[in-house]
Amino acid sequence: MKPFQYVTAPTAKRALELCGKKDKFLAGGTDLLGEIKDHVSAPGRVVNIKHLPGTRDIVETETGWKLGANVTIAEIAGHSGLQKNLPGLAEAAARVGSPQIRNMGTLAGNLAQHSRCWYYRHQDVQCLKNGGYRCYAREAENKYHSLFSGNPCISPVVSNMAVIFATLNATVNILRGSQDLNMTMGEFYLNAWFNPYAHNSLQPSDLILHIDIPVKAQPCVYLQVSEKSDFDWALVSCAAAGSVNGNTISNARIALGAISPLVHEVEEANDFLEGKELDRRVANMVADMILSEAVPLEHNGYKEPMVRALVHRALSALSGKNFEEDGS
Ligand SMILES: Cc1cc2nc3c(=O)[nH]c(=O)nc-3n(C[C@H](O)[C@H](O)[C@H](O)COP(=O)(O)OP(=O)(O)OC[C@H]3O[C@@H](n4cnc5c(N)ncnc54)[C@H](O)[C@@H]3O)c2cc1C
Ligand code: SF4
Repeated sequence: MKPFQYVTAPTAKRALELCGKKDKFLAGGTDLLGEIKDHVSAPGRVVNIKHLPGTRDIVETETGWKLGANVTIAEIAGHSGLQKNLPGLAEAAARVGSPQIRNMGTLAGNLAQHSRCWYYRHQDVQCLKNGGYRCYAREAENKYHSLFSGNPCISPVVSNMAVIFATLNATVNILRGSQDLNMTMGEFYLNAWFNPYAHNSLQPSDLILHIDIPVKAQPCVYLQVSEKSDFDWALVSCAAAGSVNGNTISNARIALGAISPLVHEVEEANDFLEGKELDRRVANMVADMILSEAVPLEHNGYKEPMVRALVHRALSALSGKNFEEDGS
């Protein structure tokens, strides 16, 4: 590990002053310290931002929820107001990693976590994302990689929280110099779609302050399939939200994770769902739209049937009926 300077920032403004282009913000450290130990990242200075005022609060506002950047994943999972009003959000948090990761890992760190691609994380490999010339995964071990990408890198977004946030129209509040920005989940990962070097749209020393959810309560679900029940990322994740009246859905959003450098959403599928009676036929059509431009590689084609199964299960859970059992 390369030596680095360690400082604690007392305010957001000071954190920005302390964090130069080659420095890094440190929250829970579950992602960043792994990168430093594996020689993937070598910041000159690590700026501890865990104690920034107001970043540890979960606040119910007049119109929704404001979640501080340093709220831990465990605090989201265990919050009774969120469990009751936004059940898919609490579930997405409960499915992150392990109790240790959830206790240390923060919301901002979860959204800003870097690629889990094994080539990127290997200290002896310099792939395209890490300043090299090739994407090794494309022609070799691509089991965990994307079905969609806008650039040669096929490393997907693996944040559980990003997937549920997309369906809730949540925005990320960011301090960039003197600018106060709000990004949707689409905007937050857009750079990673176009640019193989980017993990997200944050620029060096952009500081996430909080996440805003513009609804107080919303039926929503989060589901995932992983290889292991604990300590593992999703092979595919799926979140859905919408108002269900009887069996008819309105304002539907369905989003998938671990299959694209973006949280994967297909506007046509969301529009198609409007006013529909949820059943197996509708779920099949939604899955077809979601997968219509998928480009499976040698080892990740298994993700397509997983996407279909998760879309079925998510819409089935939202509607409160089991499509498979009642034959609808
Ligand atoms: C074994 C293991 C299993 C995991 N499983 C899952 C899983 O199933 N699902 C899932 O979603 N995640 C999973 N994770 C990822 C985990 O959720 C993240 O590592 C964690 O949330 C990161 O938060 P942190 O506070 O530790 O971030 P840190 O490691 O401190 O930071 C991570 C990155 O975010 C940046 N950062 C942190 N805070 C801010 C801020 N306020 N503004 C700007 N940049 C910031 C840092 O500079 C760094 O680049 C897993 C991690 C591990 C190690
Ligand atoms: S998928 Fe991206 S991170 Fe992985 S080897 Fe290819 S360029 Fe590197």
